[in-house]
Amino acid sequence: MARVIRVLILGGTAEAVALAEACAARAGIEAISSLAGRTRTPILPPGEVRTGGFGGAEGLAEFLAGRGIDRLIDATHPFAVQIGAHAKRACEATGVPRLRLLRPPWPQGPGDRWTEVADLAEAARRLPALGRSVFLTVGQRDLEAFAGLDLWFLVRTIEPPARLPLRRAQWLSGRGPFAVEAEVALLREHGIDVLVTKASGGAATYAKLVAARRLELPVLMVRRPPPPRGPVVDSVQAALAWLEHPA
Ligand code: NAP
Repeated sequence: MARVIRVLILGGTAEAVALAEACAARAGIEAISSLAGRTRTPILPPGEVRTGGFGGAEGLAEFLAGRGIDRLIDATHPFAVQIGAHAKRACEATGVPRLRLLRPPWPQGPGDRWTEVADLAEAARRLPALGRSVFLTVGQRDLEAFAGLDLWFLVRTIEPPARLPLRRAQWLSGRGPFAVEAEVALLREHGIDVLVTKASGGAATYAKLVAARRLELPVLMVRRPPPPRGPVVDSVQAALAWLEHPA
């Protein structure tokens, strides 16, 4: 009988959940999903789920060895830099093959008024020249960069930020998928004249960009950090193929 392949999926994304679902439907693949534990009500994948940090690359390496993990798939968010670096180091130390599952970036289309910026600090520097009422969707842990600005912010995050470090702001709870009509209505209702977002990609939060295009609003798009060296795929199907037929 063929041996079961045990894979650790580093998650916190819709793709990680979809991959765990695909693994659950395959005989011969056993997936353990790992969540950082940032959201109180995460969307749980099927199968075993563990929550919380590993304690750095060394802790992750111990987990890989201790649980007899055969493969690791890093399906975390495109902006989750630290866990990706730890996964690379831990896999190199233990000899566990690693794959990065990275969702494709959003395509820029006709009518889009995007300005790509290197990081949140550059977004904050360029923002006052573009508008006064800002729709800020960079995540609850990345608001600090905008703290010094005398602008009005509509901040949307899944969980309430521990602290809203902005002078004038309103917080809105929201988890995708969002619909275009509702996004257009939201931007109009709050008199938004500029958007700031990370180049996260993914269908769930794309509607705000379609809404911005319709309303001809500028968008400050924070570029993705480069992934750690190593094999990268951009779909769950390709990740499954890697599990079933490793290079
Ligand atoms: P990060 O900066 O790359 O990681 C910080 C630390 O959090 C890691 O060193 C690790 O702690 C722990 N960690 C991160 N992801 C983990 C996982 N899947 N399982 C176990 N521990 C994990 O990560 P982040 O940007 O804070 O993101 C945290 C989680 O939220 C990720 O799983 C990511 O997929 C998800 N997420 C992030 C964003 C974003 O914009 N960054 C957006 C949506 C979802 P130890 O060193 O102790 O192991």
